[in-house]
Amino acid sequence: MALQITPVQSHRAGAAWIKNSARSAPPDLIVLHETAGATGWSSYEWGISKGTGYHFIIDRPWPSIAAWRDAKWDGHVWQTAPPASRTNHVGSTVKIAPSKRSINDRAIGISIANMSDGSEPRTAKQRAACLELIKQLKQEFPSLKYVTTHYDIQIWNRHDPLGFDPNYITGEIGLAYLRPSEEELLAAAEAWVNASNGRYKDERKFGVAKTKLWIQHGRKPTSL
Ligand SMILES: [Zn+2]
Repeated sequence: MALQITPVQSHRAGAAWIKNSARSAPPDLIVLHETAGATGWSSYEWGISKGTGYHFIIDRPWPSIAAWRDAKWDGHVWQTAPPASRTNHVGSTVKIAPSKRSINDRAIGISIANMSDGSEPRTAKQRAACLELIKQLKQEFPSLKYVTTHYDIQIWNRHDPLGFDPNYITGEIGLAYLRPSEEELLAAAEAWVNASNGRYKDERKFGVAKTKLWIQHGRKPTSL
């Protein structure tokens, strides 16, 4: 398919990149997300307001707003930051051996516009655009070796992209599916709870207990 990538500045003059900074080395990882929001553009604007966000958002039509209802938005890709730079799209402290790099330093973040609550399917065009975008990025950055999901690296408080299986990407594009070891996940979950100053004390919902539960379930989210 022909990929249509629109840098945010091309859609609205003066639009800013998502906050970004230099990487310590070229990216070697793709992290897939879901926006959990309405239009792809609204998710970009939310990121601008927070100083966090992805490099790319793969949009779909949003029927309740006239300007975003058009089928042309199905599979449309917004570039929201330069992929050579790092952005803050994962709040995770997990480090995956043998790399010493943080996830945000390593990764390009791609997010699929979707409510991420089971209320809408990801579209065929979004899926095709995702594959094509990763193929293009792999040509641009031969350093790319891995793909993973936000859920895989932060299963104590994330489920995005909901029910997504990256194996079709590894098969078609030749990137390895990167997952932390159980020990790395549990250590990161513990550090996250400790750093939260009591905010995430509810072990039934967060942290080490939830991480252990997901590991028992084969690291597949069984509920939201
Ligand atoms: Zn995410």
